[in-house]
Amino acid sequence: MLERRIKPAQAMDHKADHVIRVVGLKKYYASGLFHKKIVKAVDGLSFEIQRGGSFALVGESGCGKSTVGRCVGRLSRPSSGSIYFKGKDIWQAPYHRKTLRKKMQIIFQDPDKSLDPRMRLFDILCEPLKVHGWPKGRQAEKVVNLMERVRLSPDLMDRYPHELSGGQRQRIGIARAISLDPELIIADEAVASLDLIAQTQIMDLMEKNQTENGTAYLYISHNLNTVRRFADRMAVIYLGRCVEAGKTEKIFNAPAHPYTRGLLSAFMGTGLLSTEKRSVLKGEVPSPMQPPPGCRFHPRCPNAKAVCSRLYPPERKVSEDHLVWCHF
Ligand code: ADP
Ligand code: MG
Repeated sequence: MLERRIKPAQAMDHKADHVIRVVGLKKYYASGLFHKKIVKAVDGLSFEIQRGGSFALVGESGCGKSTVGRCVGRLSRPSSGSIYFKGKDIWQAPYHRKTLRKKMQIIFQDPDKSLDPRMRLFDILCEPLKVHGWPKGRQAEKVVNLMERVRLSPDLMDRYPHELSGGQRQRIGIARAISLDPELIIADEAVASLDLIAQTQIMDLMEKNQTENGTAYLYISHNLNTVRRFADRMAVIYLGRCVEAGKTEKIFNAPAHPYTRGLLSAFMGTGLLSTEKRSVLKGEVPSPMQPPPGCRFHPRCPNAKAVCSRLYPPERKVSEDHLVWCHF
């Protein structure tokens, strides 16, 4: 059975110094023949994004990152749990889709899929302005301004997306995302399909937007190098649950969970980590249809003991702003 969605008592969140607060988010999909199987894509995740902050979600493919992004971006309804945008539950009145769409924008991995190939860049950038009632006489001026902000020549505005490089297309994605001055941008693998130079340029643009306009970011990535550069805070997720969370630098300097150590070793090369921080990830992520009991990481964990297969580990504070979910 899918769980009931939202507890009415949680419709308002009065502690709103954050732009996003996610509480006990679950997203289950019915899958397989006769929809009898349940995929637990996200299974009880909580986190906050400070106003103007950058928060990363990391983990291997299939661990539920995009599902969280879709729920936060109000593209997908949670099975249970609550998501607050500046203190108000996004799935309950008074927010409706159009208002939130202006304040929260999403940039996807593949700009090709999110840009209409039949539209010229000018029309692509004008569309959100029209939808949100930007004065007609000032739309062209705004499009030029947006193109300049993402360092694209306004001469390109009559081109179609296929006439641009991947990096240029992603700049258009960013220009569109920042056009209505959102308070949150959800960037789901936004630089993953780009070469290294384009990656750096796009991240520079996002950083510039963050510092100049105070836009907060939910930065979803499996690439830890870009996370370290971009995010102040992060959560490592495994099979839809958090295993470690806190300040990015703390987690990189002293990863407390064996899974985080495995990810860091895989990404940064074991040579860059001291011996006690190294760990090689064995095997693959189990199916989210039958997640292992207890700690979900225990079948792959080099330190697993009997308790790990029985009990889900409680939250433990490693230091200020650094939490881990591990028995040891
Ligand atoms: P990530 O972005 O971390 O790679 P996803 O959020 O895309 O992970 O997927 C998490 C899990 O949920 C995966 O096992 C995926 O197959 C499953 N999933 C995602 N979307 C759907 C859907 N619409 N129907 C059924 N299962 C889905
Ligand atoms: Mg994804």
